[in-house]
Amino acid sequence: MKKAIALFLTLLYLITVSAAGPALAADQLNIVASFYPIYILAMNVFDGIDEVSLSCMTAPDTGCLHDYQLLASDMITLSRADALLICGAGMEAYLPGVTAQFPSLQIIDCSEGIDLIPSDDEDEGEFNAHTWLDVQNAVCIVHTIAEAACKICPDAADTICANADGYISRLNALDTEMKESLAPVAGKSIVTFHEAFPYFARAYGLEIVAVINEEHEDTIAPSALAAVIDAVREAGNPPLFTEPQYSAQAAITVSMETGAKIFELDPLVTGEMQKNAYEEGMRRNTKALLHAFEETGETP
Ligand SMILES: [Zn+2]
Repeated sequence: MKKAIALFLTLLYLITVSAAGPALAADQLNIVASFYPIYILAMNVFDGIDEVSLSCMTAPDTGCLHDYQLLASDMITLSRADALLICGAGMEAYLPGVTAQFPSLQIIDCSEGIDLIPSDDEDEGEFNAHTWLDVQNAVCIVHTIAEAACKICPDAADTICANADGYISRLNALDTEMKESLAPVAGKSIVTFHEAFPYFARAYGLEIVAVINEEHEDTIAPSALAAVIDAVREAGNPPLFTEPQYSAQAAITVSMETGAKIFELDPLVTGEMQKNAYEEGMRRNTKALLHAFEETGETP
């Protein structure tokens, strides 16, 4: 029996050590981002700051967190965290479980100060949570992270402010560039794959006429698919945008029924752990949109 207990404890120790990732220096503050887009924005704020260890709670290929279930390894990560950066606006549906388990964990809500769009999907809460796809919202998120970071780590406040200022200038330049590039297609209709693009559409002047709205083709109700097909026909077969994270099967069905062409937009919920990944992703999305309207003969 003693042997079994010893084996169990050894296994538990190994699981704990391997799940927790690299060891932290004792004097480092441990800041955890809930998922990929928040992590990429935060990476720029904490760049070169030795006092802070920044990590992403979920793997970079996790995608949106709408149905995410906390793993044992997440609980270990959070047990060691000084602060958790969340997207907010309902993206982290698991949050009550976290605050119940770790009532003293500081939660930094990155949706603060953002003009939130009501959700069209009851299952996804009161607001649409894909805030980061408007670059001005990304600027707001960077402000929120930097302000909280300066309080948590006052010794590094100067570097945090300089990092945030530099990144915000780059983001503002990106926003201007996107608004100029997309001005010729303002008011055009698009169909998207899940409810990820309302902030993008509001910022860059596009109209989402239908959302295929299912992450797996085999779960889409025939009536929902028929409604999308009707909306696409009514809008004159605008381009359909699938997402790299999900199967394009439902979009293929809509395309076959209507003749509308398929392209790809990336909600930037997965990708490389690179500081410039958000900027590069938004540039790719801008190009993809322009290309789609060119291909469908809608560019003036
Ligand atoms: Zn989503």
